[in-house]
Amino acid sequence: MEKNLYVKTYGCQMNVYDSIKMEDLLKPFGYKFNDQLDQADMVILNTCHIREKATEKVYSELGRIKKLKDKKLANNSNMIVVVAGCVGQAEGKEIFKRSPWVDAVVGPQSYQNLPELMSQLMRDKKHVFDLSFVEEEKFDKLPETTKSQGPSAFLAIQEGCDKFCKFCCVPYTRGAEFSRPVANIYREALSMITQGSKEIHLLGQNVSAYHGLSPEGKEISLASLINSLAKIPGLERLRYTTSHPTEIYDDLIEAHGNIPQLMPYLHLPVQSGSDKILKDMNRRHTAEEYLQVIAKLKKARPDIAFSSDFIVGYPGETEQDFRDTMAIVQEVKYAQAYSFKYSPRPGTPASVLPQLPEDIKNERLQELQALIKKQQDEFNASFLGKELNILLEKTGRKENQLVGKSEYLQAVTVENSTNAKIGDIVKVRVNKIMTNSLIAEEI
Ligand code: SF4
Repeated sequence: MEKNLYVKTYGCQMNVYDSIKMEDLLKPFGYKFNDQLDQADMVILNTCHIREKATEKVYSELGRIKKLKDKKLANNSNMIVVVAGCVGQAEGKEIFKRSPWVDAVVGPQSYQNLPELMSQLMRDKKHVFDLSFVEEEKFDKLPETTKSQGPSAFLAIQEGCDKFCKFCCVPYTRGAEFSRPVANIYREALSMITQGSKEIHLLGQNVSAYHGLSPEGKEISLASLINSLAKIPGLERLRYTTSHPTEIYDDLIEAHGNIPQLMPYLHLPVQSGSDKILKDMNRRHTAEEYLQVIAKLKKARPDIAFSSDFIVGYPGETEQDFRDTMAIVQEVKYAQAYSFKYSPRPGTPASVLPQLPEDIKNERLQELQALIKKQQDEFNASFLGKELNILLEKTGRKENQLVGKSEYLQAVTVENSTNAKIGDIVKVRVNKIMTNSLIAEEI
């Protein structure tokens, strides 16, 4: 009998990828994705630990789920509740103490064992969990994706991180750096293209550290991997996220100049423009070194645009440190960027440092976000009347509208589109700039 699986995904693109894999893993057990929580036979919360109060938000969602589970139990049915992802990894068995109605906890490196855990749960009818860190085994055990992700697909090539930036929980929740072998990635990419994807977004917490083994047993770089993937017929666009400025090597910069499928848009986090704060954060580079990488990339691919991540109000950040951050934003001119107030992640070295007052953090964040928004508006406005290529991903709200993404990841609504269909890449002219999107017509 078919059973309903509800998956709620929090956080990053890697979690989106993991959720798709969990759906595939549970298919042989009769589970099919359904977006109605109250009808679910199994609920998976695939959690993220990166944002403020993430753990408390998961517990409050679990409180809501308990009411639905109680209703089901009263009707002689059940709702299996699974907490997966980084909160699962960080909280572990504490979840069973605080929310005893949760049936299973799995970490981001052990969800491939969900089928075994489910059998164990059916057999023993008590809490089951797996928080192990056997990454090689994880990718070996994951099934081939059977569901198309659509025109644009995520593909995990690397996991974990050895950088230990002092604010970040990834090295603790996702573990040490691991790169998948080239052959496995190639096979998965081929399958995605066969299922209709035109764009592949390579994922990793520290993707530029990729050093997977070639079929000949030689370690190869991200640039070499991109070079071989770009040869797959039908693969029109390639992207990669998230990279570290110290690992944008010359071959990767060259790839940006030589490989037309590699899109001219790069998310390259800098976090702060102050050398003192970068050192305190253990980022391993200076502001100047970051700017040099940006300059090399611009030289190789003059139309490249950048996005970044910023943390304001990091412990010890002075007014001058913040001014240095504003200066680097002025210098780079981002197409868009994510910015956050520093908030301590339990277990990370920065979490025990004295905190800046909230009002200072708030003021700085507002000022930075206003500048980022201005730059984003200017970047978008620069396309008015210009041509862009759009990968069409879905229908729009109005008739004859299709919505897709530009080379620069801008959301673009294509109006009066008569011949084009989802999955096509169409040339358009931008004729209107909206707050969060562009309006264009096919040419
Ligand atoms: S490089 Fe990125 S993932 Fe790794 S510790 Fe630093 S912020 Fe976290």
